[in-house]
Amino acid sequence: MDLGIAGKRALVCASSKGLGRGCAEALAEAGVDLVLNARGAEALDKTAQEIRDRYGVTVTAIAADITDAEDRARVLAAAGAIDILVTNAGGPPPGLWSDWTRDDFIRALDANMLTPIALMTALLPAMIDRGWGRVVNITSQSVKAPIPALGLSNAARTGLTGYVAGTARQVAQYGVTINNMLPGIHATDRADALDAGVARQQNISVEQAREQRKASLPTRRYGTAEEFGQTCAFLCSQHAGFIVAQNILLDGGGTNATI
Ligand code: NAP
Repeated sequence: MDLGIAGKRALVCASSKGLGRGCAEALAEAGVDLVLNARGAEALDKTAQEIRDRYGVTVTAIAADITDAEDRARVLAAAGAIDILVTNAGGPPPGLWSDWTRDDFIRALDANMLTPIALMTALLPAMIDRGWGRVVNITSQSVKAPIPALGLSNAARTGLTGYVAGTARQVAQYGVTINNMLPGIHATDRADALDAGVARQQNISVEQAREQRKASLPTRRYGTAEEFGQTCAFLCSQHAGFIVAQNILLDGGGTNATI
């Protein structure tokens, strides 16, 4: 399917690996020029080169911590005019509700709520002026159903979801859509880290923890960054202009709910 977005320019945050990279690759496959970001320059430059070689699009790589205000300003300055924004950053660490301090919450809110909001605040005005734009925020299934060990994530991402629900409905009249993608368990470094956390907690091997988590999903497998990325590219496509303020769950059926 022609997504109708060849020649557009996308900023994909936190995209040297994992779900961000999956989104970047699918957009590149659709002919979108990219601005990629991650903190570690080595993996970022490698990913940028692989995408240039594979898809022939222009890729600008900016090593920066997207949750840091000064770094973010540097990314935005280098990015220039952006038609498509994919927000993403690392997720907060797991833990217990009774251990988290105000500082822990501030860090989580900064990374997973206020950073995407700052990026939208910076880039929405020009999208509105041009009469076209797409924003996809990578959040989590924890927005639909809380994950007990990820209380910091549950809290921060739900705040972002509330912001998007209101803002998306204000900008849709200008041809700009904002939606969220909610990953369940996808085979990335983050999933490896969470597998290791379960293994420690239950005193089992990481492989046993992974098998246990796979068995909890109707698909009996983790999702892939590739299938996540293709859904992102569709949400950024011309065909998705009537999809507004939605929370698209990609969890292999793991969230046990009728709607
Ligand atoms: P990942 O495989 O660990 O990849 C994270 C990517 O983000 C890397 O490229 C990393 O590069 C970059 N990154 C992390 N923090 C950054 C920062 N502050 N600034 C810029 N780049 C940053 O993670 P993932 O699985 O793709 O997860 C992406 C998001 O989805 C996370 O918020 C995660 O919590 C959420 N999520 C994931 C799953 C899952 O099963 N995978 C499930 C639910 C929610 P550097 O380290 O070099 O910066």
